[in-house]
Amino acid sequence: MKIAIVGAGYVGLVTGAGLADFGHQVTAIDVDADRIAALQQGVVPIFEPGLDELLSRNMAAGRLVFTTSFGAAIAEADVVFLAVGTPSRRGDGHADLSYVYDATRKVAEHLDGFTVVATKSTVPVGTGDEVERILAEHRPDADVLVVSNPEFLREGAAIEDFKRPDRIVVGIEDERARAVMTEVYRPLYLNQAPLLFTNRRTAELTKYAANAFLAMKVSFINEMAELCERAGADVQEVARGIGLDRRIGSKFLHAGPGYGGSCFPKDTLALVRTAADHDVSLSLVEATIAANARQRFLMVDKIVGACGGDVSGKTIGLLGLTFKPNTDDIRDAPAIDIATMLMERGARVVAYDPQGMAAAALVVPGVVMAEHAYAPADNADALVLVTEWNEFRSLDLARVAGVMRHPVFVDLRNVYRREEMQRAGLRYMSVGRPDAE
Ligand code: NAD
Repeated sequence: MKIAIVGAGYVGLVTGAGLADFGHQVTAIDVDADRIAALQQGVVPIFEPGLDELLSRNMAAGRLVFTTSFGAAIAEADVVFLAVGTPSRRGDGHADLSYVYDATRKVAEHLDGFTVVATKSTVPVGTGDEVERILAEHRPDADVLVVSNPEFLREGAAIEDFKRPDRIVVGIEDERARAVMTEVYRPLYLNQAPLLFTNRRTAELTKYAANAFLAMKVSFINEMAELCERAGADVQEVARGIGLDRRIGSKFLHAGPGYGGSCFPKDTLALVRTAADHDVSLSLVEATIAANARQRFLMVDKIVGACGGDVSGKTIGLLGLTFKPNTDDIRDAPAIDIATMLMERGARVVAYDPQGMAAAALVVPGVVMAEHAYAPADNADALVLVTEWNEFRSLDLARVAGVMRHPVFVDLRNVYRREEMQRAGLRYMSVGRPDAE
């Protein structure tokens, strides 16, 4: 099949490379000329494990090309995926759909022959109707169907998620789209990935419901962690004790600094706004958002407490800036807020991250970026593990303790055990465990 992907970001690149790998002929289009020029040279603008190899293999095979021009790619496409960003709209938290609508207008100009336009971007329920209206307004002659095909991949494991999804959700309003979308995903379908057809609005809402539910699990366990700390229980064991119940499941029950990234924060907020437009109050989702915001303050309080109640003039080392390991994405990362709040309280913050420092330097220029994982510990009054990158999981703790001014380790991901920290001479604090102090 001939496929065009509009938007060559995390989702567009992974989807494009993945579909090309199935044997489809894929053109990825982006308005960012620098990004496209880099991709044409084989330079991948984001860090995602395995993506380099997948892109280069399919580019070499001639199945994947990059362009800034919509013309031929759209005219020839059987399916056009919209994979542009839908960030929070400044001020009100609604999803900003300007990129989706802009892309739709550009696509409309070039439609030729029967085409399915599939929205992969996360968009509020009803957006497909507006995409359809824009297409009809600009091209009343076009034979085009709009479907919703939300993306569920996780950054850091995106290729694996693309190849082995738990399910593929496709929202259609016209049966002709079913055969086309089945053909797109045939290789996955053969691998037993459930292909779930719904109506378009259901598919759009399914994506938000999934993200809101996962965010709710995170906020839930973080609230339990706070109670565990006060009550002398261990949140890790509580999480294991409930997670083994298959009705609950063990995923997304890790106490920590709260969720971040380019999806959960904006999507939970957008869902609440969409619900309000429909006169529905999603009190659980609202509480999830509030608990997550509060969690960042609680983590700062924990760090300040570890430093004796005042961080002014002190040096705090941070391990990790990205919102999770194996990505370079720092959008809405807890570490960024934590660093900012610590600096506001007068601390000097030194950080190291395997992939996130270039982006973070632009957002939090006051943070000193370190050269390696041990450098933030140098003369530090506390070292804080914020993102659980593998290289932070087996630190030489004696070396860490040896270079710190005050050997205090705050583990916001519960990676270490109290005994090993004590053996190395470090005071240890974590989240929701009896050693939380
Ligand atoms: P991104 O910011 O990485 O990429 C978006 C790309 O679209 C950018 O390269 C931008 O230049 C391009 N773009 C913007 N307007 C354009 C236009 N009119 N024409 C062509 N290109 C245009 O975004 P992302 O993280 O890939 O997310 C894309 C969508 O997928 C969002 O709606 C997001 O919520 C959703 N999503 C993201 C993830 C994730 O993990 N990143 C997972 C599931 C769903």
